[in-house]
Amino acid sequence: MVPFVDLKAQYHAIKTEIDAAIGHILENAQFVLGPEVAAFESEFAHYTGGAHAIGLNSGTSALHLAMLAAGIGPGDEAITIPFTFVATIAAIGYTGAKPVFVDIDPVTFTMDPSRIEAAITPRTKAIVPVHLYGQPADLDPILEVARRHSLIVIEDAAQAHGAEYKGRRVGSIGDLGCFSFYPGKNLGAYGEGGAIVTNNPEFVRTIRMLRDWGAEKKYLHVLKGYNYRLEGIQGAILRVKLRYLEAWTEARRAHAARYNQLLAGSGVGTPQAMAYARHVYHVYAVRSKHRESLQKALQGREVETGIHYPIPVHLLPAWSELGHRRGDFPHSEQAADEVLSLPMFPELTTAQIDTVAEAVRTGASTLEDALAAKRA
Ligand SMILES: *Cc1c(COP(=O)(O)O)cnc(C)c1O
Repeated sequence: MVPFVDLKAQYHAIKTEIDAAIGHILENAQFVLGPEVAAFESEFAHYTGGAHAIGLNSGTSALHLAMLAAGIGPGDEAITIPFTFVATIAAIGYTGAKPVFVDIDPVTFTMDPSRIEAAITPRTKAIVPVHLYGQPADLDPILEVARRHSLIVIEDAAQAHGAEYKGRRVGSIGDLGCFSFYPGKNLGAYGEGGAIVTNNPEFVRTIRMLRDWGAEKKYLHVLKGYNYRLEGIQGAILRVKLRYLEAWTEARRAHAARYNQLLAGSGVGTPQAMAYARHVYHVYAVRSKHRESLQKALQGREVETGIHYPIPVHLLPAWSELGHRRGDFPHSEQAADEVLSLPMFPELTTAQIDTVAEAVRTGASTLEDALAAKRA
């Protein structure tokens, strides 16, 4: 069996360091925030090239507080894409603002910058590009539109730790960058976690207060805040894992290159990394018109796959209030119908990649034969 991800393999590779880091927290009883979280924040800020990082209890909380720090609230609008994980949209909703969608570029699966202008209204406050699958959105034209209309840019970098746009790490390029440390993400905690990266000290002040009940100092609550604090154990674990992130990212990139090579001419579409991008392959998704059958064929050969994501957010029941229907964002809808994520994690072996690629090639050609027979 080739698993979709294997978090146990990674733990076993770094077990001694992780166990020591957890033991240290238990001995010192620094369970919430504390020195390990503070040290992780400065190391992660340095890693992303941003001036500050604020540790939080999830990527969703990061998006929520980034919106609040940017002053987004009821009556406002934030522009994003429907082909993303629902959290991007939920966070906009938490503030009372309305999510406004623009379609994706069908090649990169990220925001099509040429569509933003038409979606801007007098209520628009922010643009929220998503670096989906680990490929940066085309940020320069997005930042240019934002500057022209005085809009805040909040990067959803939950899938893109270490990804680069024109040589700069994402998360530090817009006004605020949001990361998730959910266990399966490229940098994953052993539980929930997230962070905001920003260069703006005023945002830092507000976000630090909002994550801890809006307190300026103990029991002086100047804002209506939240309990969005990162745990000490997660901070300590993330410090250990951050030291391996570059090696893990290079392994993902090498695995993607091997998949690309083995799947060329197989009948499935392979991911296109843009010239401006250092793609970090949180997800390696192929495309097929026969996605469901291909997924079944792979299941038959004991290859686990995933679909990120089968329903674009504008068609989800939870967001029916936005009044969208099929046909509104055709590139997002087509992507949702065609993408299939193959096993991708740093510890994947060459033999496993070869097994998966062979299964895809056989599966895809069998499907083509079956269709040709039907047509004949
Ligand atoms: C994972 C993810 C989030 C949410 O992060 P959590 O830590 O799970 O709350 C937001 N946006 C995208 C694109 C994600 O992949």
